Amino acid sequence: MGTDKKTALVTGGLGGIGTSICAALAQAGNKVVATYTADRDGRVGRWLEEMRSKGYDVDAVQCDVTDWDSCVKMAGQVGPVDILVNNAGITRDGMFKKQDRAKWDEVLATNLTSVFNVTKQFVDGMAERGWGRVVNVSSVNGVKGQAGQTNYSAAKAGMHGFTLALAQEVAKKGVTVNTISPGYIATDMVMAIKEEVRNAIIATIPVNRLGAPEEIGAAVAYVASDLAGFMTGSNLNINGGLHMH
Ligand code: NDP
Repeated sequence: MGTDKKTALVTGGLGGIGTSICAALAQAGNKVVATYTADRDGRVGRWLEEMRSKGYDVDAVQCDVTDWDSCVKMAGQVGPVDILVNNAGITRDGMFKKQDRAKWDEVLATNLTSVFNVTKQFVDGMAERGWGRVVNVSSVNGVKGQAGQTNYSAAKAGMHGFTLALAQEVAKKGVTVNTISPGYIATDMVMAIKEEVRNAIIATIPVNRLGAPEEIGAAVAYVASDLAGFMTGSNLNINGGLHMH
């Protein structure tokens, strides 16, 4: 256990949930580095300015999590990482009948192979230093399955399999590995769903609303904290009761 400022890396940190995770980790006193795929129209500078205006110690680095060499390069730029949040992810939905191999490969590479590519860069260092946190952002649909998401459900379920195995390997070294499985969260992705479809989804959620990104950020900050040292190999379900597991 240390009291020094820790470095947290959040993949896809500029996204809807990623931004809230970065904010929560920064509020908890960590230095936070977010990865982004590309700097479109100066969005990275705007994001940094906005986050720094709130007093957060944040930085950003380019990385394609599907590309091993890009992850190696990114890790060289960032240096040692104490808290890794594998948050980058995509959906390419469609019923299995209409799914094709390209969508399967893209979703598996971005949601699952990415976890290998990024975690591999940092976990040995965490174990050597005797402290570390790996948090994998999965999905309720990796736990319960969802029609139209064979690729996504498979990848997200795979993330938790990775969590369970790695957690056992590094537990004695002070490194915890956990999964967080959000339900439907009010990000741009979900708000882009047609209102009537969105309302139909909300009607199936016992708490009768979408989750807020901050509710995921707060959970990640807890799992990443010193006090969560006894929690490893868990899958934290935050879904408004949509799937009780
Ligand atoms: P966003 O689309 O806002 O964020 C996804 C992030 O992933 C983006 O920041 C994007 O980077 C990054 N990303 C995509 N492809 C790559 C790649 N090849 N390399 C590096 N980064 C990549 O979605 P959310 O914030 O909603 O999702 C965050 C995570 O939460 C995902 O894993 C998602 O599956 C999961 N989730 C979301 C739910 C929701 O309701 N929103 C529910 C359950 C789980 P860039 O910013 O550069 O585009």
